[in-house]
Amino acid sequence: MSEKNHITMLHGAGGSVMHELVKNYIVKYFGGAEGFEVPIEALDDAAVVGDIVLKSDSHAVKPIFFPGGDIGRLAVSGTVNDISVLGAEPYALACGFILEEGLALTDFEKILASMQRTCREAGVNIVTGDTKVVEKGSLGGCVVNVSGIGRRTKALERNLTIVRRFRSDFEARWVLDSNIRPGDKIILSGTIGDHGVAVLSAQEGLSFGNSIKSDVKPLNRLIQRLLENVGGLVAMKDPTRGGLADALNEFSEKSRVGILIYEDKIPIRKDVKAACEMLGLDPLEVGNEGKIVIGAVKEKAEEILNFLKKTDEGKEAEIIGEATDAFSGVAMQTVVGGKRIIPRPVGDPVPRIC
Ligand code: MG
Repeated sequence: MSEKNHITMLHGAGGSVMHELVKNYIVKYFGGAEGFEVPIEALDDAAVVGDIVLKSDSHAVKPIFFPGGDIGRLAVSGTVNDISVLGAEPYALACGFILEEGLALTDFEKILASMQRTCREAGVNIVTGDTKVVEKGSLGGCVVNVSGIGRRTKALERNLTIVRRFRSDFEARWVLDSNIRPGDKIILSGTIGDHGVAVLSAQEGLSFGNSIKSDVKPLNRLIQRLLENVGGLVAMKDPTRGGLADALNEFSEKSRVGILIYEDKIPIRKDVKAACEMLGLDPLEVGNEGKIVIGAVKEKAEEILNFLKKTDEGKEAEIIGEATDAFSGVAMQTVVGGKRIIPRPVGDPVPRIC
């Protein structure tokens, strides 16, 4: 089967093959709607409808329980984070379950309890939903969709006011992938690759040392605190499928800027790095579920970094690079002194991580 004529696993892997599918099929049929500030063709983390941010995200992680998390925590966090990275505060979620015949009710209940805990952590509620059951097959237990809405906050307004102080022509009402300009700094909130390697270890029955766990968590409270207390953020993404490499290429493409990152600044756990080397994976392309990449005006970058470093979620944050008009695309200054192009990955090297 080739990806030219049939759906393959690569179509769900968050890289260039998936982006082509979304552009050439989904946007072809649903694009062109008028009156939406951030429409489907913006391909941002979520859409904007009036003053509401709207998002829907299905989760098909395999296995449904993995080191550091489970499909329920992932589903709530994924949608909460995609709404949050536009600067909105998520508040109401809808949840659709597709359950596979044979799923143990005790496992279903574990997933529900995990979702309840994650909702409390994020301060959101699931208020509607749906349940379907399909025959035993290859679902791996269940698939969970979580959709949600978020609203504007005083913190977002304050952030935008601070951005305008440094950039008088800034007109965006939201924190968008397309807002980065040459000179802006790129900040990463913590280590990369943890989630993908943790899920892969569960899929393959491998163990790397004993402590690689998924970073899956809701980041909405951290993001609102950053907007409220520091400000100067113009763009944000959660580097999920396709990892940091895909997220930076999205920034670069939509903002029409080059992005230069520094290899020695990218936080990565030693054991994750060793596991990636052993498996032949590029950690830049491995998915994360509890990290944010931020584009910020350079005048506020150090302050954002210092704020992040004082938090649990951001204690390993680093300024990893900057936007430039010297070239287009994404490049990395390597530790040995050369420059390497960081292309958009074809797809995340680990299948079904979210
Ligand atoms: Mg996202």
